[in-house]
Amino acid sequence: MPEQKPVAVVTAGTAGIGLSIAHALAKDGYHVVICSRKPQNVEQAVQEIQEKYGQDSASGLPCHVADGDDRAKLLSFSLERSSVIDVLVLNAAASPAFGLILDTTEAQWDKLFDVNVKSAFMLIKLFEPYLTRGSSIVLVTSIAAYHPLPGVGVYSVTKTALLGLCKVLSLDLASRGIRVNAVAPGIIKTKFSEGLWKGKTSLAEGAISDQSRANKLFHIPLRRIGAPEDVAGVVSFLVSKHAGYITGETIVMAGGAMSKL
Ligand code: NAP
Repeated sequence: MPEQKPVAVVTAGTAGIGLSIAHALAKDGYHVVICSRKPQNVEQAVQEIQEKYGQDSASGLPCHVADGDDRAKLLSFSLERSSVIDVLVLNAAASPAFGLILDTTEAQWDKLFDVNVKSAFMLIKLFEPYLTRGSSIVLVTSIAAYHPLPGVGVYSVTKTALLGLCKVLSLDLASRGIRVNAVAPGIIKTKFSEGLWKGKTSLAEGAISDQSRANKLFHIPLRRIGAPEDVAGVVSFLVSKHAGYITGETIVMAGGAMSKL
């Protein structure tokens, strides 16, 4: 029982950016509680982190963030590790439906808002009584929040909504000494963004088959697609004491790609 370690909960922590964040926080000395929908993914990711950082570095359970019962299970599971939650990272998002925003169905709209926005808020509401002075929350939004990507309009709108959620929550929680920040990654090489950097079915005009073409298409001044670690390092900073005077902010890591409204 890792009673002595601070606890960090990372949703969608079994692959890509979430897994990298979980690794970074385990390295920083947290016990990370990770979750995602598929039990085998959870099992594999927990094992991977434990092998690197020790048995008491990670635990996890299946949880679909849009399911209220699953969210309640995530809370009880986390409280079995510690009565205080030090870090909460809301990283889950539904894959965008490609197409024009006006072709979006009500069901697609609801799904994207449920997973990407409402579930983050409901989890924060659920965990809030167990956060304490010095605890912090990080929302994972996207560069698409500022600069909509072609073909993923509703996804972009959900990510813009998270910028607002970050600001509003940071004000409400500031008096309790709880900080709320967000990270806005650009194109990061994960399965989620495969359609943007690989293969023949790119969102934008013409297929992007390699990294240098992706650089050109997305005008990334640093001339490379991001890695999950590029995001994880910033999350590690944001939850640390070095960021103790930062709240309500969104940090963009997009290789210099245009990111403001
Ligand atoms: P990824 O590599 O595809 O990983 C997705 C993770 O989410 C998996 O662990 C998956 O596991 C889990 N997941 C999916 N739906 C879930 C749900 N409803 N409840 C709980 N877990 C769920 O994706 P990623 O690129 O790391 O994306 C993570 C976050 O970064 C998202 O919020 C995304 O919007 C944001 N982002 C990504 C990029 C990018 O270029 N990759 C850019 C900007 C922002 P299961 O299948 O087991 O559920």
